[in-house]
Amino acid sequence: MDKINNLDTILKFNEEFVNNKEYEIYNTTKHPDRKMVIISCMDTRLTELLPQAMSIKNGDAKIIKNAGGVVVHPFGSAMRSILVSIYEFDVNEVYVVAHDECGMCNLNTESVIDKMLKKGIDETTINTLYNSGINVKEWLHGFSSIEESLKKSISIIKNHPLLPKNVAVHGLIINPKTGKLTLIENGYQANQ
Ligand SMILES: [Zn+2]
Repeated sequence: MDKINNLDTILKFNEEFVNNKEYEIYNTTKHPDRKMVIISCMDTRLTELLPQAMSIKNGDAKIIKNAGGVVVHPFGSAMRSILVSIYEFDVNEVYVVAHDECGMCNLNTESVIDKMLKKGIDETTINTLYNSGINVKEWLHGFSSIEESLKKSISIIKNHPLLPKNVAVHGLIINPKTGKLTLIENGYQANQ
């Protein structure tokens, strides 16, 4: 199989992009005009679909992405990004946008570990981590229900000791094919 040389392609394209001033249409500031932050999944189907389906353009919102579109830990990087958005960039609404057919739903962690071993990770590494308190299998585990996972993320955000009370936290599920949004939690109502 031929290796794809993305780097060369990107650098070549980029030179043209900058020379032709194609960036001009994207000019905006770092403060989101619509005062919102979105946390969503890294799924490739959502790269352009999600902002289009939500009518988000450059400059409108902060967007945080990870596998599953989840806030796992109250003091992890996703929550930190949300808090920085709020305190440094005047954000007052959080949109947690999960999606149907998410790869983190029922992820086969056994199989991921098998692939790690096949790609040269030593089994003793997995065991050493386990003995020092990191269960790789559990750590990799996403969730078994998209809606429950969404509600869990919302709960971590809403119950965060550093979250100002007036911030609305909404929960939605997007269809990765049609872009249709299903409202799970209306953060305005929850704040009343
Ligand atoms: Zn996903």
